[in-house]
Amino acid sequence: MVKKGLLIFAACLFSGALFLQCAAQAAKKLKTIVVDAGHGGKDGGAFGEYENSLRSNEKDITLAISKKLVVELKRQLPDVKTIPTRTTDIYQDPREKANIANDAGADLFICIHADAVDLKTGRRQVGSKTVTRYKVYYTGKGRRKVKHTEPYDVEIPSYQYYKIPTERHGTSVWLLNTRNAGIKNDKIRENIQFEASGDSAYSTFNSSSPEVRQLAQVYSKRNKEKSDRMAGYVMDEIASKGRPALGIFQRAKGIWVLEATTMPAILIETGFISNPGDEQYLNSDKGQQELAEAITKAVISYKQLLEAPKLAQK
Ligand SMILES: [Zn+2]
Repeated sequence: MVKKGLLIFAACLFSGALFLQCAAQAAKKLKTIVVDAGHGGKDGGAFGEYENSLRSNEKDITLAISKKLVVELKRQLPDVKTIPTRTTDIYQDPREKANIANDAGADLFICIHADAVDLKTGRRQVGSKTVTRYKVYYTGKGRRKVKHTEPYDVEIPSYQYYKIPTERHGTSVWLLNTRNAGIKNDKIRENIQFEASGDSAYSTFNSSSPEVRQLAQVYSKRNKEKSDRMAGYVMDEIASKGRPALGIFQRAKGIWVLEATTMPAILIETGFISNPGDEQYLNSDKGQQELAEAITKAVISYKQLLEAPKLAQK
């Protein structure tokens, strides 16, 4: 793992230069991208469960889109190293996925997912059946009281139950929840420590020191700003394809892979597996290719922003 940026950044800190200048200096080139096909193996993710759905699994959709995205990124950005977290149907612990990006010293982490919602159950009458019930009555009183049961037939409807698809459809982007940024800060501090340990000049470097904490916070803030920009570009490109661009969100409970990675990271919910139109789109070559191209265009815009001279002067 070679992440020169952090070392330059650390050196800036030690020489007392301005933090923000350092942050801009630290990672102004997009050299390595890690594309994560969400889920895999025993973790299937969401699945098409509404009536007459394609019964597709999220893990297969994310893999198909990711493969096309990697091809497209390599084709359009040959100087950038693009690494997929998986190319087959294997299970990976989220920690493993995050480590692939961290160990590669990636500058951008893109997670591909597909959305789903809890579906309502509907029922329809598919016929009826005859059941026998009994009417109970008594005659007489006291010791002469007699119980009578009289059968009678009733028709009762038979129902079929089914899941109702959602009307929600479109693409959204999810970011690190800023309330969980502490974990990411810790990861960045660990990374600084790791980098420092390889160089005798930084042998006294302590990841818990106030300087490193401050450094990690600044770095984390820059990551957040960059993730925001990247998410915005994805939304722009999705909208330009005529697909609903639902917006940029943060999940209350957090998203582990986004927290555990040390670089700008976004998670794209490409579409709703629980919506018929979206499920078709996500399973089609055309839809997958369109998404791959839209995301690639967004990466190109992001790369231009990152490498523009004006950012370094900021
Ligand atoms: Zn998912």
